[in-house]
Formats: sequence, structure tokens, C-alpha cells
Amino acid sequence: MNQEDYLQNLLAFLSASPTAFHATAGARRLLDSQGFRRLLESEDWGDPGPGAYYVTRNDSALIAFVLNQGAGGCRSLRMAGAHTDSPGFRLKPNTLHSSEGHVRLGVEVYGGPLLSTWFDRDCSLAGRVIWLDRAGQLQASLVDFKRPLAVIPSLAAHLDPTANKEHTINRQTDLVPLLTLGEAPDFAALLLDRLREDQTDPTEILGFDLFLYDAQPPARVGLNGELLCAARLDNLLSCHALVQALSRSADCQDALIVLNDHEEVGSASAAGARGSFLRDVLQRLFTPARLAGLMARSLLVSADNAHALHPNFVGKHEPEHQPRMQGGPVVKVNAGQCYATSAATAAQFAFLCRKAGVPCQSFVMRNDMACGSTIGPVTASELGVATVDVGVPQLAMHSVRETAAWLDGYALLQVMRAFFAADERLLCAPQVDL
Ligand SMILES: [Zn+2]
Repeated sequence: MNQEDYLQNLLAFLSASPTAFHATAGARRLLDSQGFRRLLESEDWGDPGPGAYYVTRNDSALIAFVLNQGAGGCRSLRMAGAHTDSPGFRLKPNTLHSSEGHVRLGVEVYGGPLLSTWFDRDCSLAGRVIWLDRAGQLQASLVDFKRPLAVIPSLAAHLDPTANKEHTINRQTDLVPLLTLGEAPDFAALLLDRLREDQTDPTEILGFDLFLYDAQPPARVGLNGELLCAARLDNLLSCHALVQALSRSADCQDALIVLNDHEEVGSASAAGARGSFLRDVLQRLFTPARLAGLMARSLLVSADNAHALHPNFVGKHEPEHQPRMQGGPVVKVNAGQCYATSAATAAQFAFLCRKAGVPCQSFVMRNDMACGSTIGPVTASELGVATVDVGVPQLAMHSVRETAAWLDGYALLQVMRAFFAADERLLCAPQVDL
């Protein structure tokens, strides 16, 4: 895949993935097209044999793996992880409320969005809807309204003397999206109509996981088009690179990717990295004794975007660790183990970058600022697998519209391809010999 193909493919994936459910569906479509076989958690797998497989949980998390000689012949796994969710706003169950001729949507804040960036955006709705069919069976569908339906209007500068000073945002009262004027529509009827457009035949809506999203499509920005401005670059950029690398590599060795949901709210869920998903899948394939040995011969690359140096806020970075956009993937290090990287795993990743012919950089948070975390340390703790935390450098993380240099995403794809093709000797962490 050349650079331009990569960019077009990434733009399509971002546009088609307004929610974690859609990102998972997009990954499934690509895996299906590349011959991966779907396994269902509800069924007995037996020995699935040599091949390429994927499993989903909650329609929002996915594990895909390639076992060239089947589970019995697998000696080590090239593992990589990312997360499908992004911060934003989720609709409350009783979502519509009318007052003074305005119909607004009740929303909950999901994760830690940069709240100020959500004002005055053209927002649409997307997610998963559970409905009853004519036979009385429950069905699930993804919906995406695509067109702008709602807006969170700012308060005029003239009415807010604090607007450009120490402005605070009340999460309950200031961020209620405006849906329409006049009489409140029947929200369930709106959803039914939308579902029927997709040739389904629902009789009743019984539940939904719907999110607000910015309807502005991703764009190439910058004098030379080197920047990518889009929603959810954290962490769909990584999800995309992992799925592309696994599914399109002809020389792929035994490898596995895990795309977890709920990273932005702490990962403690059935579909999150603190849940049992990855362990459950591995335990179906390997006995406990084999699994322990396998993990000791495996490496996990946890990919989640990193903070690039912001030219307007240089002082927010540790002076000797200032990852630049277009400088290649970033290895994240933290003494407090907010990142799982060790000297050994950092060296392994640097070696892979060298093999792939891409530069790499390192990031350490300033001592006077709190360090974020990601799925790497969680999965490393759960499974005991050696882990390196890495990510594409970006600006404006958790803004409704984030900025990155798309060539860094292409570089991550190259490294992941080198990783999935890597020899087992590279995977075994070097150990001190006495
Ligand atoms: Zn992230």
C-alpha cells in the first residue's frame, strides 16, 4: 500500500467510524474481505486449526489473529492493541426534553473531551440500536444519521463577560445539544424511520447506544497537505494501522491484535482492557501452562496516540523529550508504569522501526504534570506479557477535531508490518545472563 492509498483508506475509515461500534464494523469488513473467519464467543471453537480468525464482543471490541500452524504450532505471538472509543457525548435513555419552544438532547459526557471544542459544531448521531422484529426477536443494527442534526450553541460574547477569560463550563447545563424548534418529535419514531431506510423491519425500539459526533469530514490541511485534521484520531489512527498491517501482510507470522472499547473511561468493562476478553480468547486456544510460556516468548505493542510538541505551548513538554509531528512513532516511557515500556521493549520497538526504515522518538511527561495511561499497562498486568507503549504524535488530543501528520500513521503501519513478520528471536525480551 503506497502513501496515497494509505491516506485515502484512512480517510474512508475515519469517516465511516463515528463510534466504537462503527470502527469495529469497519475492521470486520476489512478482515472479512481478506478471508478472516469469524468466531462467535457463544459457540464452541474446538481447535480452529491453521488460519486467520476474528472475534468481537459487545460489537465494540475485536480480537483478530493469524495462526499459521494452528494453536498447537504457535510458539510466540506478535500482539498489538489499540482502543476503538473516543471521548464525546452519549445520549441518555429519555433523551428529549422540551422547554421554551426548544427541543434538546439529554447527553452524558463520555470520557474526557475538550469540552470547549464541542460548541458550535454541526453534529450528527450514530451508534447501535436494539429493536424488535415482527417475529418478536431482538435485533441489533448500527445507525448513522450522517447529516447534521444538532448543535451545542455558545453563549454570545455580549452575554458572557468571562467568555475570553476564566471561562468554566457546566457539564450538566451548558452542553445540551439543540435538536429542533417547536414541538418535540417522537424520538423512537425517528429511529424507526432511520432503521427502515436500511431495509430492516423494526416494530419497536427497545434500547440504544447513541453518540453525538462532529459531522465535518476529515481534511488534509497545511501548505503541503501534510496534516490530517479529523475527529477521533485518538485512537482510530492506531486501530486502522493495526487492522491494515495484520490483514494485508502476506508474510505475517503468528500474530494477534486486540481493539478494546472503554479505554477513555478506565477500561473496566467486558469489552475494555481490564475485562476478560483477551484472556478468554487466549484460554480457548492455549492451556494455562502453554499460555504462560507463550506469553514469555511474546511481545505486545500497545498503540495509542502521543502528545506531539505544540509550537504554541513548548513549555508543556519535558525539554529533552519533544516528539515532533512527522518525526515517526513515539515510544512512551513512565517510571510510575503509566506506560508499560521497559528498556528491553523500547529497544525491540526501536529495532523494528530501523527494520521498517522509519524514525522513532521518545516521550516522557514533565515531573510537574500528571501522566496519562492507556491499555498497555493494563494488558501487561493481566497477562504478564512484555509490552511497549507507543503512538503517533498528535496535537489537540480529545478535541472534537484533532491534528496529526498522516505520514506518521503510514510509518506506524510500516513498523507494524515489520513486527507481524518478525522472527521469534526478536520477540523474546533480552535477559541478563550471569
Ligand atoms: Zn487514546
